[in-house]
Amino acid sequence: VGCKLLSAAQKAQIERNRQKALLLRQSRLSAKSFQTKEEKKHLMKVPAKEIDTGAGFFLDEEDELDLKNQHVEYVKGPAMTYSKDLLCEDCGQMFVESYLHEHFKKRVCNKCRENHEDKYNLITKTDAKNKYLLKDADFDKREPALKFIVRKNPHNPRWGDMKLYLESQVSERALEVWESEENIEQAKDQKCEKQNKMKKKKFEKKMKELRMTVRGSLWRKQTTMHEHTYGEETYDEEEETYSKTCTTCSHVMSYEKM
Ligand SMILES: [Zn+2]
Ligand SMILES: [Zn+2]
Repeated sequence: VGCKLLSAAQKAQIERNRQKALLLRQSRLSAKSFQTKEEKKHLMKVPAKEIDTGAGFFLDEEDELDLKNQHVEYVKGPAMTYSKDLLCEDCGQMFVESYLHEHFKKRVCNKCRENHEDKYNLITKTDAKNKYLLKDADFDKREPALKFIVRKNPHNPRWGDMKLYLESQVSERALEVWESEENIEQAKDQKCEKQNKMKKKKFEKKMKELRMTVRGSLWRKQTTMHEHTYGEETYDEEEETYSKTCTTCSHVMSYEKM
């Protein structure tokens, strides 16, 4: 190797090679500690020649051999498995923590949540029940129970707390319950129809009641309040009274004449 000036890239490459060689040596050493005597003897038969790696340092030939015969196993540390679990479902990028993962165990990074707000919409339990025709048990009893966050009701804090669900998880659950979107729509139509029928029935009942009341009061008015229209005057000789009869309600008015 001549004494040329090395570029930054070359220097970096050399450093990487050195680190790699160090690692390999370490792994070889740890592997050796598990070798039997026989295996050690076998290895010693190989003459150790120095090999010029061309990168400013030398590798033992033994190193090279070990390098070829040995599978270097990379032990997965806890950090590796942790970050592997947090691959964003949306963009495919790794992330360490996110709002959706923390609250809903939804593996979506914060950036994707911001970029697709409607996709990661939160929905109140009441709205979710109406929109997806779900019962309480569908939220809590089916596995896994849907996660939610609790917020004060913005319309009135005294109304108690609101449960907010991730709509995408609710709609997934609804598909489990109803099997297809068409089924949900159909069931909603049926429910709507039923409700309309009930409303119509209730309305008709109310109208009937109203009509009865009006009719009743009209009847009472007719009998008690109307102005009688009397027919011809008749005279009863025995009683010596005159009388007139109302032509509409048959009310009889009797009187004497002075
Ligand atoms: Zn993402
Ligand atoms: Zn009358």
